[in-house]
Amino acid sequence: MVVSTSNTTAVDVAIIGGGIAGVSAAAAISPTHAVALLEQEGELAYHTTSRSAAIYVENEGGPVFHRLSTASRQFFDESPGADAPLVTPLPVLKVGNDSVSDFLVAEAEAARKITPNVRTVMGSELTDLCPVLDPDVITIGVYEDSSGSVDVMALHQLFLRTARANNALIQRSAKLLSATRAATGTGRWKIETTAGPVEADVIINCAGAWGDVVATACGVAPVGLTPMRRTAFTAPIAQDPSDWPFIYSFTEDLQCYFKPEAGNQLLCSLSEENPSDPTDARAEELDVALAIDRIQTISTLELRSVKTTWAGLRTFAPDRNPVFGWDDSVDGFMWMVGQGGCGIVTSPAAGQVAGALMREESLPENITELGLTTDQLAPRR
Ligand SMILES: Cc1cc2nc3c(=O)[nH]c(=O)nc-3n(C[C@H](O)[C@H](O)[C@H](O)COP(=O)(O)OP(=O)(O)OC[C@H]3O[C@@H](n4cnc5c(N)ncnc54)[C@H](O)[C@@H]3O)c2cc1C
Repeated sequence: MVVSTSNTTAVDVAIIGGGIAGVSAAAAISPTHAVALLEQEGELAYHTTSRSAAIYVENEGGPVFHRLSTASRQFFDESPGADAPLVTPLPVLKVGNDSVSDFLVAEAEAARKITPNVRTVMGSELTDLCPVLDPDVITIGVYEDSSGSVDVMALHQLFLRTARANNALIQRSAKLLSATRAATGTGRWKIETTAGPVEADVIINCAGAWGDVVATACGVAPVGLTPMRRTAFTAPIAQDPSDWPFIYSFTEDLQCYFKPEAGNQLLCSLSEENPSDPTDARAEELDVALAIDRIQTISTLELRSVKTTWAGLRTFAPDRNPVFGWDDSVDGFMWMVGQGGCGIVTSPAAGQVAGALMREESLPENITELGLTTDQLAPRR
């Protein structure tokens, strides 16, 4: 039960951050614990969560992310409690030229151990799948046809609705400023926020690009997160792309992607990684221009104008794996950060991890059967 006196909100668990990580943790933990979710902005999902390419692809981000995405599949397939399916089918075709063919073939082979339908594609099948690819530039692809486009805001709302139904307190414009934990006595966290004081047994750090900032403000050593800016934009095209896959180019100096969107347009990106401070990221014109140039090089497309541009921060731990678990140097501090470019697709499994850790249970079977352990996710691994 959330208890609010005139001064202090008292809960079991304070979740810091109202992006997808925060709401998925709140949905998973609120059935058994009193939760307050604190978001510094005036709206939830304002930062990276609302700025993604919204792709559900399993073979992405390396073996740990791949397993978490696969473990999330059942949730997306069943969309429990959602008004409509959360994922619309959209195959993903990673492409390149001969210089990256060994890499792509090896990647497909490794991916098949977890997602058996991943396969390599060559020759005319490439243009059969996406007629605008330039066969002189693109000679190989890795095709995953069980992937899809995620309704990110519906997913976020679904987690939020679940948390609210379990009486979680959702506080916007409530920035964690500092937190201290009494070494003796109740051992509870005393949290200062811009919306007033909060007391909790546990803090869960779901602060995305600010993960290390929040930890430091709680007296916890950072884990070495690096936020990486990525710019994206939409552009109208002459063709109807509704039958095309998501195209992700891996050739050196031609890295970019484009995703078919309704209304004869593409969502495009240079797929760049530019280190950034945690901030309200803005699109870089140069990255838009470079992406246009590369997309026009790997395809016969002509992008004559840009509709909307934006940028978001994909935040990585030093080993580029997610950081989900208890900090072993401080009692009552859990990390749910470092989701890189997979925080949407892995969020159902991430919530399950947070819930299991909170209740001191083993990880659920859909996660362990893929060979994932808490040690692989642990903050000080
Ligand atoms: C261009 C782009 C494309 C992407 N494409 C995909 C994709 O196709 N599929 C996929 O799965 N992922 C994708 N991602 C990655 C995905 O968007 C992220 O992994 C995910 O959104 C991270 O969620 P989060 O909740 O950790 O972070 P955020 O959404 O950034 O949430 C963190 C929240 O913490 C809050 N906060 C920070 N400090 C404090 C504080 N002191 N007090 C209170 N609140 C605080 C922030 O305001 C913020 O709202 C993409 C990202 C980008 C930028």
